Amino acid sequence: MSTRRYPHSSVSPEEFHKWLSTLICVLNSVYFVLNMITLQKLGLGTMQLAVATFAGFCLYKSSNGFYRPWHSYALLISLTINILLSIAVMDLVAGATYWGLALPFWYYSLFGLRKGFIFSAIIVLSAAMVIFFRTDTQVFMPYRTIFNFTLVYCSIWLVCHIYEVQRQKTSEFLHSLALQDDLTNLKNRHALKADFQAFQHSFESMHMLIIDIDHFKNINDKYGHDIGDSVLIKVADALMQSIHTKEIYRLGGEEFVILFKNINDKEAFRQAEKVRKAVELGIFFSHNEPIKLTVSIGISSLRPEHEFTDFLRAADQKLYQAKREGRNRVCA
Ligand code: GH3
Ligand code: MG
Ligand code: MG
Repeated sequence: MSTRRYPHSSVSPEEFHKWLSTLICVLNSVYFVLNMITLQKLGLGTMQLAVATFAGFCLYKSSNGFYRPWHSYALLISLTINILLSIAVMDLVAGATYWGLALPFWYYSLFGLRKGFIFSAIIVLSAAMVIFFRTDTQVFMPYRTIFNFTLVYCSIWLVCHIYEVQRQKTSEFLHSLALQDDLTNLKNRHALKADFQAFQHSFESMHMLIIDIDHFKNINDKYGHDIGDSVLIKVADALMQSIHTKEIYRLGGEEFVILFKNINDKEAFRQAEKVRKAVELGIFFSHNEPIKLTVSIGISSLRPEHEFTDFLRAADQKLYQAKREGRNRVCA
């Protein structure tokens, strides 16, 4: 299941990007004035003006909903070059180096674990090299400076890395809580809606099967709710074994949905019959007592004007037709 399709992180990269653009725009404008007017560093000042302008452009774009991931890359690359250049040309005592310490946080926040790690590693090496060549020639001084810088940088980097690993785990956990049915481990109704929206314009055709267990209430009444639950789990397993697709959902209660992409009406009907027969022939044991079940299935095919609820309703209507016509059948 792709995680990108679902809202699952508390602060999105877009949000971080917006804050970073604001910060860079303001800081570079201040440094531009300082470097141009007070220190007459024309080259550095011009670069800071360019970075401030680009950050302003990024802020404007993301505030108007036109955020693109390359904006973040371009922004952080320009900020990084800006910081490395400041370390290279400004007096080291002025402390431009300290700005490098903030970079791992932004890398991890914007680019995640893998790229955050790679960017942070590149910067610590580049900054250490620049510092080495810039430090005075006193015995051991360059090594001591690099040692101190690298240690502080690496502690910040480590904290960012641990935090990002933890954030990803929490995010995956919340993601599974929000989109997975905890009884059967199938995807749930929220996932169905999200998948539908993701697939809607990407595939030429889509079919939905709603599968409802016939007279399931009798199972609960006869064997109790717990056995009813275990039967639902076994029916979910039977569905997964009969149809090899990831798009199987528990809609709620004793109702399941399967989505098919890019197949025709005839094939959708054939697949539904396969599911129906698999359940009809299956034996759903409970404490060694065989339980036989049947399902009724309604099929809808996606029309251009269909929203999610229309698509679902159309399949539901066919399901009720199957129930009316005597159950244990497929209606399309
Ligand atoms: P029909 O053939 O018309 O679909 O009859 P049915 O008995 O399957 O349908 P009905 O809607 O009358 O009853 C559905 C039953 O499903 C009622 C409810 O107790 C049971 N049910 C819903 N969710 C769960 C669940 O999570 N666990 C268990 N054990 N039973 C559930
Ligand atoms: Mg039902
Ligand atoms: Mg039922």
